[in-house]
Amino acid sequence: MKNIRRELTAEGICILTFDRAESSANIFDRATLEELDAALDELSGVRGLIFTSAKDAIFVAGADLHSIKGMSMEDLRGFIELGQRVFNKIVALRIPTVAAIHGVALGGGYELCLACDYRVASNDRATRVGLPETQLGILPAWGGCTRLPKLIGVPKALDIILGGKTAPARQGLKLGLVDELVSREYLLRVAKRWLAKGKRKTAWLHSLPVNAVLSGFAAPKARADIEKRTHGHYPAITKALEVVILGASESLEAASLARERDAILELVPLETTKNLLRLFSLQERAKKLSYGTPHAGKELPFKNAAVIGAGIMGAGIAQWLSARGIRTVLRDVDPDRVAVGMGAISKLYADGVRRRTFTPVEARAGLERIAPASTEVPLHRVDVVIEAAVEKMEIKKTIFQRLDEITRPDAVLATNSSALSITELARATRHPGRVVGIHFFNPVHKMQLVEVVRGDDTAPETVQGAVRFVQKLGKLPVIVKDSPGFLVNRILLPYMIEAGALFEAGASVEDIDAAMLAFGMPMGPLRLIDEVGVDISEHVAATLSRAFPDRMRIPGILPRMIQAGLLGRKNGKGFYVHPKGRGEEPHVNPAVLALRQGGGTWTREELQRRMVLLMVNEAARCLEEGLVDTPGDVDFAMVMGTGFAPFRGGPLRYADHVGLGHIRAQLTALAGTAGPAFTPCSLLETRRSFYED
Ligand code: NAD
Repeated sequence: MKNIRRELTAEGICILTFDRAESSANIFDRATLEELDAALDELSGVRGLIFTSAKDAIFVAGADLHSIKGMSMEDLRGFIELGQRVFNKIVALRIPTVAAIHGVALGGGYELCLACDYRVASNDRATRVGLPETQLGILPAWGGCTRLPKLIGVPKALDIILGGKTAPARQGLKLGLVDELVSREYLLRVAKRWLAKGKRKTAWLHSLPVNAVLSGFAAPKARADIEKRTHGHYPAITKALEVVILGASESLEAASLARERDAILELVPLETTKNLLRLFSLQERAKKLSYGTPHAGKELPFKNAAVIGAGIMGAGIAQWLSARGIRTVLRDVDPDRVAVGMGAISKLYADGVRRRTFTPVEARAGLERIAPASTEVPLHRVDVVIEAAVEKMEIKKTIFQRLDEITRPDAVLATNSSALSITELARATRHPGRVVGIHFFNPVHKMQLVEVVRGDDTAPETVQGAVRFVQKLGKLPVIVKDSPGFLVNRILLPYMIEAGALFEAGASVEDIDAAMLAFGMPMGPLRLIDEVGVDISEHVAATLSRAFPDRMRIPGILPRMIQAGLLGRKNGKGFYVHPKGRGEEPHVNPAVLALRQGGGTWTREELQRRMVLLMVNEAARCLEEGLVDTPGDVDFAMVMGTGFAPFRGGPLRYADHVGLGHIRAQLTALAGTAGPAFTPCSLLETRRSFYED
């Protein structure tokens, strides 16, 4: 066999070990499922069956999603049915079965575990279990929707399936997704102990009659939650709800499995699903991204780092680095800021312990890896420095000149600047080749995207080193050419500026934000300005408007708000009043209404059109100017960096879907009435589509 090893122990137990040839991952493609099917036919005389994996960090990562994209509907149906048949075979075995899980067991990988009688998992950081399918626009169709409710009950199963959730081992145990946690080296021994219990019986609490009653209660609330959360944009979630609820009152598993199959066949051809699957591929690509030859130049170990500036970003970055095992100096000129930064870091660790992301021991060790400093300290040991001081070119230049003198010549010198020129900053040093942008997004512990910005003089090995460093941190890099605002802020700012301008001209805060929530953005643009800070938004807008004066003009409302002390969430007042109490929703700030005069009115569609089209136009311009290489880079960065409606696939994919002819016509019409910012860029004039040209 190529992907599964079979071993029979002296006690008569069969161990099937997933070990995909020439790969560090196990996945379920057709060939592996067929191998598994054949292995299940050779169990005569066996007393128990254990599934395990030989890989370092993966049990089974799930179904082979790349092959799904290219399948005909008939092949897809065959593939789904094959998986169901093989997993049914495991369920029907008369001998007890255990999944001994180390590494990720997700989607199809976890559905195999669900087909077993018991699940034992390693208490390792690499171990994660769950059903993320709805995040990809599909649903668990190899028994997940049918079997999870029987294991943990309808309400908890709905939470996991509809949320597309995955859980680290400890949380998995708490939720009942696994039965026991042990150290990796004891996995098989403990799995054998579970086999001795014989076949599993469904707990009364999760039996058919109880689940049938509970699903009656849970369904209306779940339906209302979905509508509120997704505005009807994610059909997979609604479908999964239907399949789980009907399955929970169904005595025949076969009927529920058929429903899973039919539902996934309905979902796969949808535009939404295609977009979500494409984004998944782009994420996988970012994990393996390299600049130039993958192993060119000397590899830095990235074990020691320094962060300059202990403000919001510096503290967030230092915490993330230390949690990834990197010893980190956190330096600020202001001792009070160092203390506040360390306080913020302790809180992040404490929250992590509460959410079971860290054990208390791991959190303490992480905190101890940070060396706070309010005076200059030797930095000759560090492999990388990330500067996150105030966004002022002159201050950053002074910092970099000094860093250039006190660090090893091969260390990477990075800035977390949001919009300043990397090339200009680098040229202030004697070695511009080692200066690069490593731009994290706020909040650092939540945002996965990091822009790696190459200045005109940045050496290829520095870019490659930065990419590898970002990957080592578990973040997703996108490589961007140096340009004001780089990629994400460059596209986002015209949208935020337009929201401000529309408000100024008379549109209401509620209408502007509601329009974009309905489009599928995670929050409205005015609320976003409040969250980022009115002053910071104005500062980035100023940098961009200096660079692109004819199309990016700061709306007067922003400086007026700053003057009136309305800075956004940080001081409780901006476009909204932000109550201090937890759970209290912000409401529109009457004070901001007094700062404008306009009286125009717009429909929701007009508001959406103006704000979205500016993003599309700027996104196309970034591609045209070669800031990134492909439309996929732009779309991936916008979804991961700003939460741009994932189901729409990103601004360029959205433009393709609407049709570039239509986009051009709408932009041209608006350019006549609403200003030159709407004039379509040349790429929009010449391309028929972004993805198919
Ligand atoms: P902040 O104002 O919270 O913190 C800046 C810190 O730098 C302050 O503690 C200040 O004392 C310190 N500092 C000033 N001069 C210094 C020097 N010479 N040496 C060492 N420390 C010095 O700012 P922030 O929001 O954390 O932003 C930091 C950087 O990150 C900026 O370049 C900003 O553009 C960028 N950024 C910010 C965000 C965001 O949302 N806040 C997001 C991405 C990037």
